[in-house]
Amino acid sequence: MNSTRPHSQSGITLQFRGVTKTFYDRARSVEALQPFTTDVAAGEFVCLLGPSGCGKSTLLNIVAGLELPTAGQVLAGGKPITAPGSERALLFQEAALFPWLDVQANVEFGLRQQRRSAQERADMARSLLAMVHLTGFEHSAVHQLSGGMRQRVALARALAIDPAVILMDEPFGALDAITRDRMHAELEAIWSATGKTILFVTHNVREALALGDRILTFSPRPGRVVQEVRVTLPRPRSLESHALVDMAAQILSVMRTAEANAAALPA
Ligand code: ADP
Ligand code: MG
Repeated sequence: MNSTRPHSQSGITLQFRGVTKTFYDRARSVEALQPFTTDVAAGEFVCLLGPSGCGKSTLLNIVAGLELPTAGQVLAGGKPITAPGSERALLFQEAALFPWLDVQANVEFGLRQQRRSAQERADMARSLLAMVHLTGFEHSAVHQLSGGMRQRVALARALAIDPAVILMDEPFGALDAITRDRMHAELEAIWSATGKTILFVTHNVREALALGDRILTFSPRPGRVVQEVRVTLPRPRSLESHALVDMAAQILSVMRTAEANAAALPA
């Protein structure tokens, strides 16, 4: 192990207790999420799967501390979440990198705020960039990078502050299929090496099956869990394996039923 990273923090538990969200506009209210309760174990990889608008981002934002639930609460490592915190990192589909900083400076950003020395920052950035296979791109400008490379930088930057929980909101949704496969393999390797707790949002059934220890499938809005699947397929998983394709078909059929039931309700 690199001597500058002696204490990598591993995952912590997340406890969801009747987490509910309704958005209130002037004239109307939007029920985004019906009471959601589950326990995520430390180091567990949980995928939140569902169609657009079912409240996945809302739920992730609540864990990030960017939104407050209307009712219920989420505990991280036993403590109620009321605000953002450095033990929880959030990554989006569009890697929100700082365009005026090069790759290494982006990765060092959080370390600078922690007032680490220049040498320590550079050493940590180097080892993190190696972890996400970007050695040699330290001084590239962000706009020169491909989408997959940008997501790698965003992941390295998130890992730099050594969070216990990584929250990922459709992070690979904009990538081509081959790049996405590679990102799956790399994310899985980083997750096994670090033991972080990961909550991963996707609308892609096979992606959820490739990555998750457990998949929670949500109905269309208002989101509620319609299926919980524990995925015991051996890792690393192939998107083309028969077992995975069969499981995907079963999950999709539950999603279609939930969609049809939602469509049958009055608007
Ligand atoms: P998903 O990520 O699953 O696509 P979201 O969590 O973004 O879904 O949104 C869930 C529902 O809540 C959607 O119908 C969305 O329009 C609504 N919503 C999200 N944020 C707000 C907001 N700030 N104000 C009003 N409605 C919102
Ligand atoms: Mg979303």
